[in-house]
Amino acid sequence: MKQLLLFDIDGTLLQGGPAKYVFQDALVRIYGTAGPIDDWEFSGKTDPQIARELLREAGIDDGEIDRGFPDLWTGYLAGLEAGLRKRPMELLPGVTPLLAALEELEEAGEVALGLVTGNLVLAAGLKLTSAGLRLPLAVGGYGSDHEERDQLPGIAVVRARETWGRSFQSREVVVIGDTPRDVACGRAHGTRTVGVATGSFTVEALEACGADHVVENFSETEQALRVILTGDRAA
Ligand SMILES: [Mg+2]
Repeated sequence: MKQLLLFDIDGTLLQGGPAKYVFQDALVRIYGTAGPIDDWEFSGKTDPQIARELLREAGIDDGEIDRGFPDLWTGYLAGLEAGLRKRPMELLPGVTPLLAALEELEEAGEVALGLVTGNLVLAAGLKLTSAGLRLPLAVGGYGSDHEERDQLPGIAVVRARETWGRSFQSREVVVIGDTPRDVACGRAHGTRTVGVATGSFTVEALEACGADHVVENFSETEQALRVILTGDRAA
């Protein structure tokens, strides 16, 4: 294993799905409010971070927020599982062939695959499964591990060591995501970062926040592979 590749989920591999509405529903059920959810910036934040921000805006204190979290997550996950049956996540362009190519490289011992996402680990599993992806969850950093995304690459690296018996140095790790917060969490950990403009940020916006490499999308498998593995865009 020469490199550890850590993918974000929403806006990077998948889009759509019912998560926002299910999240809103669960917040209202547990706390009586979802705060200013319609105007809130979600991109790249962890689920607990989003919940805390919205609830603080609604005037709820951290003690009450924390006491409600276990029920919030139980309700959210149950709603998500049911909601995804009716409205599964959609694969973004090129994701299936890209992951197939990377899985071959993983089997050949070239790369290790993992996730860094603000989703709770169980939500990540539900979303991936709904779109037919079977990325293993064992190597990853999730919103259920820490509220701050910047902490998640380090957690994923520890899990990669447990899984593969190898300590990946920062320069051997690549964080791949669709928002400036993905780029920032990679940079905070000293990794290489690849931005993909399939979420709500443009190529220019991702370049401006310091991503090492940015692609429009993953539809050109060979190019996406080269950028992810080597940072080299040219053939
Ligand atoms: Mg994302």
